[in-house]
Amino acid sequence: MHTKSITELLAALQGGEFSAHELTSHFLDRIRSLDPHYNSFITLLEEDALQAAFRSDQRRAKGEAPLLSGIPIVHKDIFCTQGIRTTCGSRMLHDFIAPYDATVVEKLNQAGVIVLGKSNMDEFAMGSSNETSHYGNVHNPWDLERVPGGSSGGSAVAVAARLCAAATGTDTGGSIRQPASLCGITGLKPTYGRISRWGMVAYASSLDQAGSLTRSAEDAALMLSVMAGHDPRDSTSIAAHVPHYTAELDSEVKGLRIGLCREYFEDGLDASVAACVQEGIAELEKLGATISEVSLANIKHAIPAYYVIAPAECSANLSRFDGVRYGYRCDDPDSLEDLYKRSRSEGFGREVKRRIMVGTFALSAGYYDAYYRKAQQIRRLIKNDFSSAFDSVDILVGPTAPAPAFKIGEKSEDQIAMYLQDIFTIACNLAGLPAASIPVGFVDGLPVGMQLIGNYLDEATILRVAHQFQLQTDWHGRVPATAA
Ligand code: GLN
Repeated sequence: MHTKSITELLAALQGGEFSAHELTSHFLDRIRSLDPHYNSFITLLEEDALQAAFRSDQRRAKGEAPLLSGIPIVHKDIFCTQGIRTTCGSRMLHDFIAPYDATVVEKLNQAGVIVLGKSNMDEFAMGSSNETSHYGNVHNPWDLERVPGGSSGGSAVAVAARLCAAATGTDTGGSIRQPASLCGITGLKPTYGRISRWGMVAYASSLDQAGSLTRSAEDAALMLSVMAGHDPRDSTSIAAHVPHYTAELDSEVKGLRIGLCREYFEDGLDASVAACVQEGIAELEKLGATISEVSLANIKHAIPAYYVIAPAECSANLSRFDGVRYGYRCDDPDSLEDLYKRSRSEGFGREVKRRIMVGTFALSAGYYDAYYRKAQQIRRLIKNDFSSAFDSVDILVGPTAPAPAFKIGEKSEDQIAMYLQDIFTIACNLAGLPAASIPVGFVDGLPVGMQLIGNYLDEATILRVAHQFQLQTDWHGRVPATAA
């Protein structure tokens, strides 16, 4: 059961091969026996999930089966879930129970999913390895001594190890695509504003975007059909038509113009990863796509600009955690100032504090023009580079991460090396463009991802190219030995 795609599961549920209750119990059994190796869950919802599955079967028997009826999924623990705690991987929110569901959660519930639990993540989504979580490291199912990537590492592992059918994630600088690449699955970050951010704990609001982690592009198309759409509760959500993503998967790739960004194949890319991506590109060429080279001259400034903008926004967003309204509060404060200081020092981890300090500095009078304004100007230049590239190509293809999964602890003391993990993903967030990572091969038994970057609101082309590629290859079908 656990190796089936969402489409296959829906057919089996509809055909009465097994019930949603049986399917849910099966995934819960797998989680109980396998997750101690991975630590991909923060909260497991056994009772709730079984009851929801029971109700789902009853509704199906009555002929009521919305699009994802009975499909067991996992939410990254950054999405607010009514009555169920939402920790965001932080001690600060260890006991936080939201009084409402995030729009993403609400929409997926309406579509009939069964929520198995909330997945582990880097604290407040800050990280590329899942090592900053208050709830411990997450282990990569392809090699338990290695990181799964981050910050949506728990979601990526739960999908890769077949502990659920699909998962939600968020991507501020690469947090869906990079873990998808390191775990050998399909990760989609849609256009900024395509999916509502309402009820998603904010890290850097102008960059944060929800998306999915799935086994295939076809599954991603199903998830996006449910998750996308305008939400009046999120003023940055886009009021654009949501296409019928699954219906568009079958159009062929022939004649599609693919751009290779020259800068993505220069510095910093592991040669074995480059070779896998080149083979992936050759496969697309076989399908009739034409390849040309494009240049994104300002992309080299993406990481420095991001590490001013993201901390600046996070320093503002995280100021709400003051020990007063909600979240962690220190014991026996002797003054209001002591309450603020100790609640924040004890509630936040090191990386979060580092970012708050950098962000506060960058926004302070006297430095605002030197850092924040400059970073915003770079952001515009990067956007312009992408716009000119999309004048001559339909999609950009390149690597997702510079190398396969690294060892736990290997980069924790070297912030720059850690930040460079997102060298190929961050520019899309600065520009707001949609992008996906799909499995394209293995290096020494570790998965490698290929990134597909689309034009604004053109998730359909990304999904179609990914699906056509997956019809020809089976990288996305491989299951790690630890999860067999
Ligand atoms: N690794 C990046 C960071 O730490 C991106 C994280 C994300 O996309 N949430 O900011």
